[in-house]
Amino acid sequence: MKKKSIFFLCILSFTACIGQKKYDPKETEYYSPVPRIVTPGKEAGQAPSDAIELLIGNDLSQWEANKPEGGPAGWILEDGIMTVNKKAGDIRTKRKFTDFQLHLEYKIPNHISGTGQARGNSGLFLASLEVKEGAGGYELQILDNYNNSTYVNGQAGSIYKQYPPLINACKPPGEWQTYDVIWKAPRFRADGSVESPGTITALHNGILIQNNSILKGDTPYTGPPVYRPHGAAPIRLQAHGDPSEPISFKNIWVREL
Ligand code: MG
Repeated sequence: MKKKSIFFLCILSFTACIGQKKYDPKETEYYSPVPRIVTPGKEAGQAPSDAIELLIGNDLSQWEANKPEGGPAGWILEDGIMTVNKKAGDIRTKRKFTDFQLHLEYKIPNHISGTGQARGNSGLFLASLEVKEGAGGYELQILDNYNNSTYVNGQAGSIYKQYPPLINACKPPGEWQTYDVIWKAPRFRADGSVESPGTITALHNGILIQNNSILKGDTPYTGPPVYRPHGAAPIRLQAHGDPSEPISFKNIWVREL
């Protein structure tokens, strides 16, 4: 390299050094708004202080029948454990929600029978919607897939007929299992078109099964997913029509986001 070029290079790097701003660490720190304090549950899975408890003790008052007229939730509640009553049909929360974090625990009975979709089938509908054909919404599947196979986008932890779970985290029948779900509801424009789709992040027994999955619409048994505009909606639990023994739930809570 010629002497002249070296001289110009030195000048250039010197000017670059001068141009660099020196930062103070304090310039990238801020102190408000201060996150509010929430007291965690004493044990893992217990409701934190700002949660709405949907199932606590022998109290079904947060739930109603999933019928146009509502009415009492006809499921069986004993010692804080709620068991599906298939004859009574689905139940839904009286309260309506938009975005939330939800925790629930369920147990497939250890004497469960049946195969495929007909083995401990239930479901968590993040938003329960009324449609012409009956009950609609967005279902995170509950099913016994411990040594039981079915279509993968319909197995436990799937967003029904849309996304299989990332892994199969099912415990054997007879053991309590957990779902922890973060639901962001879809938003709609005034003309009914989708402004932003719904998303689900979910952990099954503490393991990630849905990682910010973007919903293509609702989760019908037949036909493709469709979005229909809606606002805040109840959360629903499914009483599936299969003949296998009914499953149980406990410790359900939700935090509005
Ligand atoms: Mg189901």
